[in-house]
Amino acid sequence: MTRDAANNTVSQTWDRPLASPGKIPDSADIVIIGGGIVGVSTAWFLARQGIRVALCEKGHIAGEQSGRNWGWVRQQGRDVRELPMMIESMNVWRGLESEIGEDVGFIQGGCLFAARRQKELDGFADWLEIAREHGLDTRIITGKELERQVGPAASQWAGAMFTASDGRAEPHKATPALARAAASKGASILTACAARGLETEGGRVSAVVTERGAIRTSVVLCAAGAWSSLFCRPLGIAVPQLKVHGNVLRTAPARATLNGNLFDSKVGIRRRQDGGFTVAHGSLLLHPVTPSTFRYAFKFLPALRQEFKTLRLSIGKEFLEEFCTPSRWALDAVSPFEKNRVLNPRPAPSVIAKIKANLAVTFPELAGVEIAETWAGMVETSPDVVPVICPIDRIPGFYLATGFSGHGFGIGPGAGKAIAGMLTGADSGIDLSQLRLERFFDGSPIRPQSSI
Ligand SMILES: Cc1cc2nc3c(=O)[nH]c(=O)nc-3n(C[C@H](O)[C@H](O)[C@H](O)COP(=O)(O)OP(=O)(O)OC[C@H]3O[C@@H](n4cnc5c(N)ncnc54)[C@H](O)[C@@H]3O)c2cc1C
Repeated sequence: MTRDAANNTVSQTWDRPLASPGKIPDSADIVIIGGGIVGVSTAWFLARQGIRVALCEKGHIAGEQSGRNWGWVRQQGRDVRELPMMIESMNVWRGLESEIGEDVGFIQGGCLFAARRQKELDGFADWLEIAREHGLDTRIITGKELERQVGPAASQWAGAMFTASDGRAEPHKATPALARAAASKGASILTACAARGLETEGGRVSAVVTERGAIRTSVVLCAAGAWSSLFCRPLGIAVPQLKVHGNVLRTAPARATLNGNLFDSKVGIRRRQDGGFTVAHGSLLLHPVTPSTFRYAFKFLPALRQEFKTLRLSIGKEFLEEFCTPSRWALDAVSPFEKNRVLNPRPAPSVIAKIKANLAVTFPELAGVEIAETWAGMVETSPDVVPVICPIDRIPGFYLATGFSGHGFGIGPGAGKAIAGMLTGADSGIDLSQLRLERFFDGSPIRPQSSI
């Protein structure tokens, strides 16, 4: 990770960059659009089976959400619809470094949701039951046990929900390492290669048209993160999706008792592999209002209601940018995806100031610690804060994996395994039936169970 001196945001680099081949393949068994953890993990699972896979990334691997997130790998607090996939993801994470022969910074350092009041602590009871049903080690800790986890800061909390088997990994390492592993198994990882659209024959997918030419294929996965909705719009597929502006900072290496992940209303914090901490605000979500906010307002009402206290709306350049983005384009001309290679929002100074203040109040031992870097990322969310992973029936051969809603990094490897099964017709053992896009259109109640 390097610092971009011009705007002080993260500019990811690879330790060992994977050069994009000069020529793209004429054909592939499967083409994946999007080089985040979801697309890359899927490519890795497919390439391991000898399937000819090409992955198109408009910018660079993990340039957007997958390289900018907090790095939490947690089962705790998840919606039951995605929990089995997350438990499988944990299995993948545990064996990942030995499988691919690279360090991804994965460690099971535990995850705490701390509660300031007893009532809040009692509110974890429902999820403890879910954890028990799924065989997880989640429990409530208080007093001396909490103090052993977080040091003297423990006195401000009534207690915490704790999953010792949860953990973290380093976002700037994990997805690039997986991409190299996929490439070593024969996947074509094509960076600076935007997918402009699809070609069909007899209604079925026949090719992906990229800025560097067409790749013939009969199977395409759209794992385009915050861009999925835009990619699908010219195809006549509505994907309800909104963005939240997340702000993050990292400290220089620092001494403190906390060695895992902790979340409460003031901070989201986790220990880093380099000895510092990755820190964010625990209860402040910024949503830049865009035309999509109005287009999908009704579907997002339950989520907006749930996040009412934490959500701040703003109208700025994002509104105009989306307003001016065409909903259709010619496949032989520059597309909106090439015009914005890496979605790189600036961190909001007022939020960064609040994060620093909250860090000092919550962990006085970290007050005054050097802030090494600040950055921001656009979190894409679905109306019920659970991903969409499904075939698109009206275009046979076209599949969607998006909407990971602020918690797709941890589940990414498990999602990759499940998606590879979906694309090849093999049974991955992970049930995806509740993650279909149609749930937002067939009258099913939209009920977010976890938060963004
Ligand atoms: C600030 C922040 C904190 C977060 N914290 C956590 C956390 O602690 N734990 C956790 O589990 N999750 C977390 N998340 C969420 C997590 O990062 C995402 O859910 C996950 O990375 C999504 O992965 P993805 O592959 O679906 O999307 P992305 O990583 O966004 O990748 C999509 C890629 O598709 C590319 N693309 C788009 N359109 C095209 C096109 N037409 N052609 C070619 N390429 C295209 C984009 O350039 C992008 O690289 C956080 C996210 C943010 C922003």
